[in-house]
Amino acid sequence: MNNGKINVTVWNEYWHEQSEERIRKVYPEGIHAAVAAALNEAGNFNVTTATLDMPEHGLTQEVLDNTDVLFWWGHCKHGDVSDEIVDRVQKRVIEGMGLICLHSAHFSKIFKRMMATDCSLKWREWAEKERVWVIEPGHPIAQGLGEYFEIEQCEMYGEHFDIPTPDKVVFISWYEGGEVFRSGVTYERGRGRIFYFSPGHESFPIYYNENVKKVLVNAANWAAPRTQLREHICPCVEPLEPIENKAK
Ligand code: ZN
Repeated sequence: MNNGKINVTVWNEYWHEQSEERIRKVYPEGIHAAVAAALNEAGNFNVTTATLDMPEHGLTQEVLDNTDVLFWWGHCKHGDVSDEIVDRVQKRVIEGMGLICLHSAHFSKIFKRMMATDCSLKWREWAEKERVWVIEPGHPIAQGLGEYFEIEQCEMYGEHFDIPTPDKVVFISWYEGGEVFRSGVTYERGRGRIFYFSPGHESFPIYYNENVKKVLVNAANWAAPRTQLREHICPCVEPLEPIENKAK
């Protein structure tokens, strides 16, 4: 933290917006800029952005050491993310850094690493309606939301979603086509908090939706570290009480 504010880094592979005009029209400055803008409106974050094509993907050790919460958006370029950077991010999550994985980041190297499952799901891009139901109304990530909110046009992500049983299922989405999906789930890994949130397909203006923006802000506040582990040690220790060492 810096000046009492939470340091957030928003990472984006930044591919669709540069390669396809129809996506650039939705997110002219990139999805990372839209997510950063939503967070900046809240006023209690220092927000920076990083993209795949930057040296070390913009995630140097120094950047990560100064990041309280990392947002991750990726889709087509998961395979281009270096394993060394994934190791680095995983270590920081275990130390206490928050990690928010958005939409197609369900298949990102870092999310799969943290979940240790296949993370596959069903999908359909028919611009149908999504109704996001709040399953945990008392959860900090759901603060300020109603019983549900709707996204007029979305990409359907459906069950079965191959993830470990979440600590909390904060949201379940229903889609016009009939499927349902655990669209907002939380985990803890080491000292770090992880939130996966599925809305956010690149061709729809989902990160401008007021309720979605509220979720991004709530998630960043929730995932901010409470304690940090900086030493990775596994010590052999003397007993607290006098005992006989029967192994000798
Ligand atoms: Zn998508």
